Amino acid sequence: MTDFVLAEHPHRRLNILTGDWVLVSPHRTQRPWQGQVEDIVIEQRPEYDPECYLCPGNRRAGGVNNPAYTETLAFNNDFAALKPDTPEADHMGGGLLVAKTESGICRVICFSPRHDLTLAEMTVEEIRKVVDLWTDEYRALVEDENINYVLIFENKGAVMGCSNPHPHGQIWAQHAIPCEPAKELRQMLRHYQETGRPLLQDYLSLELKLQQRIVCENSSFVVLVPYWAIWPYEVLVLPRRQVASLLEMADREKTDLADILRKITAKYDNLFRVSFPYSSGIHQAPADGKEHPDCTWHMHFYPPLLRSATVKKFMVGYEMLGGPQRDITAETSAQYLRDLSDIHYKYKEETALR
Ligand SMILES: [Zn+2]
Ligand SMILES: [Zn+2]
Repeated sequence: MTDFVLAEHPHRRLNILTGDWVLVSPHRTQRPWQGQVEDIVIEQRPEYDPECYLCPGNRRAGGVNNPAYTETLAFNNDFAALKPDTPEADHMGGGLLVAKTESGICRVICFSPRHDLTLAEMTVEEIRKVVDLWTDEYRALVEDENINYVLIFENKGAVMGCSNPHPHGQIWAQHAIPCEPAKELRQMLRHYQETGRPLLQDYLSLELKLQQRIVCENSSFVVLVPYWAIWPYEVLVLPRRQVASLLEMADREKTDLADILRKITAKYDNLFRVSFPYSSGIHQAPADGKEHPDCTWHMHFYPPLLRSATVKKFMVGYEMLGGPQRDITAETSAQYLRDLSDIHYKYKEETALR
């Protein structure tokens, strides 16, 4: 038997944040990288679309007119998955058929009045407005006694099931803590009880020492491909300073957050020269009014693309019935992303044309 090499031999990696495992099969990517840039017709969207229900001044499906907003906009989702006035009951059914009532609020956040932009093409100043809105929304929802968790997320791209290309995200705030953050909070608490330190701060220190999976950084944040990543170009945004939520971030950190979000989303678009689809979301302290020194604010990006603008990874077969699996290693993905420019390719071309 030859010696085990992480970059060559099949192995399982532990996701310390969830306690789940991912199967890694690096030997299946021995062929040269196929990250070809295809001749995609670049879809040029108008700055304003009269048919879009998120553009300024337009009528939404619920019959309300958007204000003529010039920066950001937040409103209650006209088709909310959660409602604040759900009747309460301890349990319904029991034994094998269990249900619990759930109440909450669903908000929509427009990042920009411009229909044709994405975070990748917005300026740091414009993204900072989004960070401020997230913070204001989170603060207001923490005040709500019925709300215990606030999930801020974005679904970008038709491949992620996003029906409207206008740059926007969502906030679902609810009474219960959803499954994914609940798993992570358990792991973070266990580590804190054992060591007295936040799990993700220990993890970040290790990654900064190893320098194998870092993608980009600034004075307040580090973007890396987590050791246990499932999606080919999954990344984790981590703060250098321990902060449990947006409310604990200093002014400078919020600007740095806008800066790092612009950088990673521009790198993503540059990878296959396409508006890169993903689901991203913020995990932070529960909105229960308690201190959470064990919990580190962080942001996940889960993009589905694998080898090109059109070849996506499918979570089928083994993934559905066994568990997550990947071929390209986290180290290789991190290197591809690290080597890419953080200046958006559209702006590069504009500069070149001048
Ligand atoms: Zn629009
Ligand atoms: Zn998380």
